[in-house]
Amino acid sequence: MKSFEYAAPRTEAEVVSLLNERPGTSAILAGGTDLVGLMKKMVETPDRVVNIMEVDSLKSILSDASGGVCIGAAVTLDDVLEHPSVLPLVALTQAIRGINSMQLLCQGTIGGELLQRPRCWYYRDGQGLVNERVADGENSLHAIFDNQGSAKFVSASRLAPTLIAMQGAKNEDENEDENETNSLLLRAKNLRRAALQKSGL
Ligand SMILES: Cc1cc2nc3c(=O)[nH]c(=O)nc-3n(C[C@H](O)[C@H](O)[C@H](O)COP(=O)(O)OP(=O)(O)OC[C@H]3O[C@@H](n4cnc5c(N)ncnc54)[C@H](O)[C@@H]3O)c2cc1C
Repeated sequence: MKSFEYAAPRTEAEVVSLLNERPGTSAILAGGTDLVGLMKKMVETPDRVVNIMEVDSLKSILSDASGGVCIGAAVTLDDVLEHPSVLPLVALTQAIRGINSMQLLCQGTIGGELLQRPRCWYYRDGQGLVNERVADGENSLHAIFDNQGSAKFVSASRLAPTLIAMQGAKNEDENEDENETNSLLLRAKNLRRAALQKSGL
């Protein structure tokens, strides 16, 4: 592992300031279940590591009258599961339980789960995130082609698709008008329709 500077700020303002001082060469440390392994293998070599687990404002779960829930980035996955406001969000709790490892649930955070690095073999082998060899090489299970950009890797998060689907379902409930196009998200039923059309069914 490369030597690095370690910071454990107490406020969000301090976190931002520490990251801004060295843009691109600092890494946020949350539970560390993904980052520390990557640092050990020298896949990630930050000059500065900023631990956000001492920032109380990032460790709260707040709900509002409409049933919305705001989860701090540094809340651990088991604390999310145990919170009464999250219990009605069955899709989210099922997705978290699917992680199925007591250690990861206790240590991993919701922010780290969403921001965990891709499982691309080339990236995990230290060959970078945007790798031209992916097109003809080992791309099974970690690459999606047919997009315009150079990055073909897949997000490793299991919670991100769940949250996107939940937002899609919410938009659908709120907006029954088929022709309404003011949502950036594809409505859930259209997503399925698009997939069927593409596969010729
Ligand atoms: C052995 C093993 C098995 C696993 N199995 C599964 C599994 O079966 N199912 C599954 O879904 N997942 C699995 N995972 C992934 C696991 O869910 C993630 O490692 C974990 O959720 C990451 O959370 P963390 O808080 O430890 O993140 P960290 O390791 O601290 O951070 C992960 C990344 O996110 C960045 N980051 C963290 N927080 C923030 C933030 N607030 N803002 C911006 N960037 C941030 C970090 O800089 C880092 O790049 C597995 C991981 C391991 C190591």
